[in-house]
Amino acid sequence: MDAEQLRENAHKMVDFIADYYKSIESFPVLSQVKPGYLRELLPDSAPNQPESLQDVLDDIRQKIIPGVTHWQSPNFFAYYPSNSSTAGFLGEMLSAAFNIVGFSWVTSPAATELEVIVLDWLAKILKLPNQFLSSGRGGGVIQGTASEAVLVVLLAARDKFLRKHGKRSLENLVVYASDQTHSAMQKACQIAGIYPENLRVLKAGYSSNYALTPEVVSEAISNDFSAGLIPFFLCATVGTTSSAAVDPLFELGKICKANDMWLHIDAAYAGSACICPEYRHCIDGVEEADSFGMNAHKWFLTNFDCSVLWVKERSALIQSLSTNPEFLKNKASQENTVVDFKDWQIPLGRRFRSLKLWMVLRLYGLENLQSYIRNHIKLAQQFEELIGYDSRFEVVAPRTFSLVCFRLLPPPNHEDEGYKLNYSLLDAVNSSGELFLSHTVLSGKFVLRMAVGAPLTEERHIKAAWKVLQDKATDLLSGN
Ligand code: PLP
Repeated sequence: MDAEQLRENAHKMVDFIADYYKSIESFPVLSQVKPGYLRELLPDSAPNQPESLQDVLDDIRQKIIPGVTHWQSPNFFAYYPSNSSTAGFLGEMLSAAFNIVGFSWVTSPAATELEVIVLDWLAKILKLPNQFLSSGRGGGVIQGTASEAVLVVLLAARDKFLRKHGKRSLENLVVYASDQTHSAMQKACQIAGIYPENLRVLKAGYSSNYALTPEVVSEAISNDFSAGLIPFFLCATVGTTSSAAVDPLFELGKICKANDMWLHIDAAYAGSACICPEYRHCIDGVEEADSFGMNAHKWFLTNFDCSVLWVKERSALIQSLSTNPEFLKNKASQENTVVDFKDWQIPLGRRFRSLKLWMVLRLYGLENLQSYIRNHIKLAQQFEELIGYDSRFEVVAPRTFSLVCFRLLPPPNHEDEGYKLNYSLLDAVNSSGELFLSHTVLSGKFVLRMAVGAPLTEERHIKAAWKVLQDKATDLLSGN
């Protein structure tokens, strides 16, 4: 790497990126290209000779950006947010600069030690019980995604139970989740070799907000025990993907404890809100859990990827995931005085991701991070109020955080038309390029999801989004 060449080119790239952010509102939020568009625009093979950065940037402008969906646009309201920030960005840059592969402590002690410290900081901010801190038997680790997080804890729990009941009992191990649990749970079961018929997808409905009902969980567990099966793992969610429902952690935790089961809490999206004292109650009961995860890359200003996971018994993870090949042996690891995060995750190699989280925490500070969350929740509240003024629409599920689930009402006595009507509304809105929403189905109803959480979103974007929705609804209802 030629440092002067890097300086010159990186300055050009930073200018390019800053200009991109400045003009981000001018692009259609959802890319409007057709499948295969890029093959027609790029040559069939890589160049033999170097090309100029300017030529590449021109291609990015003309050929790549049209195929980009602008997740950082203030008019991006689909799925859940994926936050970028100056601090997160700078942390990513630095991580790319060091470009370490920090699998063991010795491969870059600062990477491991900073991760341990920053995850302890964040655990304290979230007021997680001390058992999740590195000072005891637990600790935190950064995974790439919430899917990896649930997989590694499922493996840890599976192996703990196999040690207890014998290897042959795999076919008897049963996992519990709700029909609102993220599909990452199902994938984790597939990978972990859980028998497909032993994943209980329980119907959610608790307090009419699509949360798990403790009685339903208890009944399923007791049926399984009676059938000679071994209930061993429950995944509860704080902020479900469809409607941001919060499962009743305290009750579920008691059930898990009484039945000697592993409780994992997936707070991928809503965990961030729990840094605010007024939302901390959403994770009351976390003291009963064995593991807890949230995606700092969703709603915590930390660039993708950064999924934080805490466990109470790090030895369970390590027993499942550690290997000790000769070529990785080193004094520090052998003496057992250090953390080797390779034993807490699926891959060997790992990036220096704690840098960006550390920079986010330091460059914003807790108070600003709390205001950031509160502002999005306020904007979502305003959007919900706007819906309330238009009798053609209804809010479909109670709003807890910054997600509003709503739909255009079908004509009276024509509920069957609701699906097509809202599908068409979603398509019209997203095709306009002015905003991007996604959908879900709740109780058979096709529902639009307005997830407020992009760092650049302001009140004017909420009002503009609502205007587009109203106009498109008017067009649809008048048959245009
Ligand atoms: N869990 C919940 C509640 C989610 O909302 C999501 C994604 O939106 C996931 C898990 C999966 O996240 P990841 O892409 O980090 O695996």
